[in-house]
Formats: sequence, C-alpha cells, structure tokens
Amino acid sequence: MKRVLSLLLALTLSLGLLPAPALAAEAPARTAEFSDVKSSDYYYVPVQWAVEHKITAGTSTTEFSPNQPCTRAQIITFLWKAVGSPEPKGLPSFPDVKPDMYYTKAVAWAQENGIVFGTEFNPDRACHRQSAMEFLWRNAGKPKARKASFEDADWESVDWAVEQGITSGTSETTFSPWNTCTRAQIITFLYRALAEDVEWKFLITIFPNTDISYTSADGKKIVDKHSMTDKEIDLLKKAGELFASDLYDISNHVVRPKVDILVVEAPVTFENLAPYRETMYWMNAAGMRKLLPDSVNLDDYDHVTAFTDIEAETMRNATYLGLGGTDFGQGTGYTFVRNQNTDYVLRGYNDKDDTRWPAAVIVHEFLHFAERWSNKRGCPVAVAVHDAQALGYTNENEWKQYYTDFINFDVTAEDGFPAGVPAAVWRQPPHLFR
Ligand SMILES: [Zn+2]
Repeated sequence: MKRVLSLLLALTLSLGLLPAPALAAEAPARTAEFSDVKSSDYYYVPVQWAVEHKITAGTSTTEFSPNQPCTRAQIITFLWKAVGSPEPKGLPSFPDVKPDMYYTKAVAWAQENGIVFGTEFNPDRACHRQSAMEFLWRNAGKPKARKASFEDADWESVDWAVEQGITSGTSETTFSPWNTCTRAQIITFLYRALAEDVEWKFLITIFPNTDISYTSADGKKIVDKHSMTDKEIDLLKKAGELFASDLYDISNHVVRPKVDILVVEAPVTFENLAPYRETMYWMNAAGMRKLLPDSVNLDDYDHVTAFTDIEAETMRNATYLGLGGTDFGQGTGYTFVRNQNTDYVLRGYNDKDDTRWPAAVIVHEFLHFAERWSNKRGCPVAVAVHDAQALGYTNENEWKQYYTDFINFDVTAEDGFPAGVPAAVWRQPPHLFR
C-alpha cells in the first residue's frame, strides 16, 4: 500500500483546484409507464431512456410491446433518432424504401454514412442479432476489437459489441447471429451503445468517533478512544465534494457522480472490525453496515466510502490507507479509508489548506471496484488499476492520464488493443440491477 500512497500523493500534486461543475442534477422524472414493462425487467431503464429521448414511443399509450420483433426499418430509425436525427443529403437509393415512409430519412442517413448498403434494404424484415451489431459498430466508426471465441460468429462487429458489453453470447461458445431481435433487445443494445448522462450514486460516510478496546492475542490491552476535530470532519466533507468533480473531470464526463455525504456519530467499536489478511484488522462492508442509520437505503447507491480515524496499532499495525472493491452483496461497491490526522492528510500539499489527497484516494479505490464491476458485467478488464507504471505512465501527470484512459477504454494493453472499462459498463451502474 505504500506504493499506492506515494502515487496518490504524487497525483494530488498534479491536480489544480477546479471549480466544481453542477453535478447533482436528479435523473429526469419517469415519463412513461407501460403495462408490459416492469421495473424488474432488464430493459426497464433502456425503455425509459428511449422514451425520454424520443427515440421511440410505445406501440400504444399503455404498451411498449417488448417482445415484438424489431424490424430493420425500426432499428435504423431508433439509431438515427438516438444520434439526434441528422438531416440526410437526399433520398436513399433502395427500390424498397419509398420516399414518404417514417423511416425514409433514417435509411438515407444510414446509407450516406455506410451503416447500410446493398441493392435493397428489406425494411419489414426482422433484424438479426448480427445485423444489429453491424449497424452499431459501423455507427461507432468500426473500432478494432479482440477476437471473441464463438463457433458461429466471425465478425469484427460482434467481437467489438461483446468486448464493449453491448451484448453477450447466447452461450459460452455461441452468439446465434441469425436469431431475430425483439424491440426490448434492440432498445437495450442502443442504450448500452449510446446513452448519455447516466448517473452513478455515491455515499461518502465519515465516522468521526472511535471507541475500540480489546485484548490482543499476546495479551496486550488496546484502547483507541478519540474523535476527529471539526476541522478534520470539514476537510473530509470537502474531499467528498472534490471526489465528485474530480471523477467527472478525470473521466472526461463519462462518469457523472451524484454524491451524498453523511457524518455518522455512532462510534466505530471492536464489533465493527473484521480480520484482513489474517494478521490485520479493518472495517469491512458488513461491519460498516451495522453503524448506518436505518434511514440509509444502500439500494440507492452504487458505491459507498467509509472514512474512519482508527489508529494503525488498533488495526494490528495495518498501515494501509484505502481498501476498495468489496461489495455489499447487492452490487454496491465499498471503499474503506483510514484517515489519520489533519497534519497527515495535509502532508504533501505544499502547506496549502487543501483536501486533494482524500478525494484522490476515493477515485483510486473506486476504480478497483469499477474493474470488478466490469468483469461482473461480462467485460473482463485487460489491464489493472495498478498497471500504470508497467504500461509507461510514470510520472504524476501520467497517473491522472492513466485514470482517464482506464475509464475511457483507452489504455493500450500489452497485446496492442485498447483496454479499460468500456462505456457500456458505465451505462450500467449497479443500482439499475435491483
Ligand atoms: Zn490500489
């Protein structure tokens, strides 16, 4: 962890203080409730997104018809609307696309941009899985991707879509390219490929009071009873706000954080500690959960951070500062940070009254969780958060750049392909799966 600390301190020095952008806007109000789309359906959020962005309405005012086949005319129209309905230069050249159909402009735009081609378009034919991936891949500019290992699919578009988390195979070895797509599936693919402004919800908790006593295995009485000063609490609150603006900035606005900050007065006791790597202690997610007031609903959050003030000796001389990645069991990430004292927090800040360090710790630990979440969503991350130096990001400015590249799937991995957390994973925060 020592290495992490020095990297984090280095990172903090490279960041100027930036004005916080407006981050806390609420998600848009739900604009449509269809009798055939339930909040537990995997396509619930994508359908809401599509309706809010006027990509599609229902098949009636009360129904969306999620299981209806999606035609080629429909997917091209949805795609065209999702990118802002750009005006085409002329009419499409396909004899089976009449000039006055609802999809005519969309097909013209798609043809002009090389998304569809050939001698006919077949507007009423149901869209195959392979065609859907082909349209999205061409719209994205035909990015290169690592080869997927399907027995029935050998297309770069499919490799890309699977690597990016837009879809997955129908089994470990099959993609089923000629299966037709439903309206729900197509809207879900579009959401994962194109949605913007998806919010990630963070809870940052500060535990100012420590009241731990126990007898160690070698008979030593450990007593750790103290409280943070008001100044320390204020610094950590500021760190939570900075975390939001830092993450928004470092991610090139890919991650839009909404942060709630909570000071929990209940003291951290021995009951809240758990063994870590057998010889040490920390406060894990379960121990932390016991201290939260009943009013906190963890299902509202994607990631929770706990700032404590436990002494190193109390944790059996564990000197680490942050630990991340453990989850609460319903997908919420967890980060534990052991604060020290104000002087310690401020060390490395050139004597400025600055809280950059704790903010950077939360970003770093959150990225450990993001890595795990991406793996869980079926998008194995080919590089690790700690690979920065091995991949040539050696100085503090480059570490900030590494985080940006990691979040934007733009690190060049050892195999020469881009790597990191794909955009589709950022569009699928854990709270959408509850
Ligand atoms: Zn780390």
